[in-house]
Amino acid sequence: MEVYSGYISKLIDELAKLPGIGSKSAGRLAFHLMNQPKERIERLAAAIVEARTHVRHCEVCFTLTDREICPICANQRRDRALIMVVETTRDLAAYEKTGRYEGVYHVLHGAISPMLGIGPADIKLKELITRLEGEVNEVIIATNSSLEGETTAMYISKLIKPTGIRVTRIASGVPVGGDLEYIDEVTLLRALEGRVEL
Ligand code: ZN
Repeated sequence: MEVYSGYISKLIDELAKLPGIGSKSAGRLAFHLMNQPKERIERLAAAIVEARTHVRHCEVCFTLTDREICPICANQRRDRALIMVVETTRDLAAYEKTGRYEGVYHVLHGAISPMLGIGPADIKLKELITRLEGEVNEVIIATNSSLEGETTAMYISKLIKPTGIRVTRIASGVPVGGDLEYIDEVTLLRALEGRVEL
C-alpha cells in the first residue's frame, strides 16, 4: 500500500530531481506546498513555466536572457574587444555585481569534463571561436578553478594562442574548487586585476 497519495509521491519524485534536494527535503517541500493556498501554487507553477518559455540564450554571448541580444551585449558603452569567458550565467552575474568590468562576456554553459563525458563540442566553444573573427584584443578566461575549469582554460588558451589574440586567466586567490558565484566581490576584482598571461 502506498503511504502517500500517488500525486504527492509524484511531486516528491520531481522535487528530488532538483540539484541539492535529497528525498527528505523533497518530502518536506511537497508537504509545505500542499499546505499553501491554491492561488500561491498557481503563481509558482506559472512563474516556472513562463521563465522556461521566455528565457533563451543571447545570440552573441549565450547568457540566459529574455531578449534576442542581452542588455550587456546591447550596451554600446561596453568594450566588445574584451571578452570574459565564464562557465555559467551565474558566474557572469557575480562579475557584473562588482560593477567594474567594462568588457563583454561569453557563457560556455559548462566546462570540459572527461570524467562526465563532457567534451569541447558540448559547451559553447565553437561559438566563442566564431566571435574571435571580429575585433578582439583580449580573452579573459574566468572558468572556475576546479579540475574541469582548469582543463577548459588550458583547452581554450591552446585554441586561441595561434590567432595572436591576448589570452589571460584570472588570478588565483579564487579558492581551488571554488564556485565563482559564492566568492565576494573584492576577491573577484582582485582576481580580475591580477590576471596572468597564458
Ligand atoms: Zn549577450
